[in-house]
Amino acid sequence: MPPHDPTIKLAEITAAAKRLGPPVRLTPLEPSSSLAAELGQAVWLKLECWQCTGSFKLRGAMNAVAQLSPAPRARGVVGVSTGNHGRALAYAARHYGSSAVVCLSSLVPPHKVTAITDLGAQVIVAGESQEAADACAVELIAEQGRTMLPPFDHRAIIAGQGTIGLEILAQVRALATTVDCVVVPVSGGGLAAGLAVALKSQQPGLQVIGVGAEQGCAMYHSQRAGRPVDIEERATLADALVGGIGADNRYTFALVRDWVDQIVLVSDEQIRTAIRHAYHHARLIVEGSGAVGIAALLAGKIPACGKTVIVVSGANIDMTAHQHLINGD
Ligand SMILES: *Cc1c(COP(=O)(O)O)cnc(C)c1O
Repeated sequence: MPPHDPTIKLAEITAAAKRLGPPVRLTPLEPSSSLAAELGQAVWLKLECWQCTGSFKLRGAMNAVAQLSPAPRARGVVGVSTGNHGRALAYAARHYGSSAVVCLSSLVPPHKVTAITDLGAQVIVAGESQEAADACAVELIAEQGRTMLPPFDHRAIIAGQGTIGLEILAQVRALATTVDCVVVPVSGGGLAAGLAVALKSQQPGLQVIGVGAEQGCAMYHSQRAGRPVDIEERATLADALVGGIGADNRYTFALVRDWVDQIVLVSDEQIRTAIRHAYHHARLIVEGSGAVGIAALLAGKIPACGKTVIVVSGANIDMTAHQHLINGD
């Protein structure tokens, strides 16, 4: 076996971009005058909250399932998810005539579980942590010969998420302008890693700033420790940002270390403010995890390093909860 190579090449991301077409959308890059006024720099929002399935996760899932040969495709896939990867995987499996089983922890909100089963995938709720969900997936691989498509630590998944970076550069070019800084949510780091490789391979001076939830950002603490560490998982409004990065992390720990400039953390209160800001100023419905970039900017945690793009990664918030949040109760 060749030695494990944790690097991801720009060519893998451009190949993913060629592979992905509809139903994966080229999402809009929208200027935000309210956030520009806060930062004193031009700010755009990259609207992955308008991606099909309600989050960017469809990019990685489609890129991975598309590359399965007929036999493994027929046996089906299995994934562990905080909800959005499961939904994306269910969508991709259905699109390519495969089948999906998604193992979840009980921290995943019910509306995200329903969205997965509505797409014809099977859901197994296994315990109260991502680790328990991992164990469930390992069993299904052994029993049913399913292919594991993890939410972040996988070449095709990282490359798929990286296509957002290619789009951002093309979109700012089309506006006859430039971008200096890209702000991106971080959990397992697949999104941040793919995005940073796509952007900085082409523009090395660009800053990529990750944003995690104070309630539990394993990647932040792992980078500080210099190795993957486990942290306690606590419920947060950013429900898609919980979970460890895996003690045997193969790609994202090294990629985030090598390509992401800095990770900052935001509180649930700051996330709440950001969800309200997105709604009132940009008429956007954004889930907690999707709002952390806006939260970091509003909380003054983003260094003013020039023209800034904030990746708004998802929209999948329970609508009743969103309504309460907007009403301030
Ligand atoms: C999964 C997810 C993230 C984090 O992505 P990672 O690749 O795990 O870092 C951020 N926002 C949303 C909406 C997500 O679903």
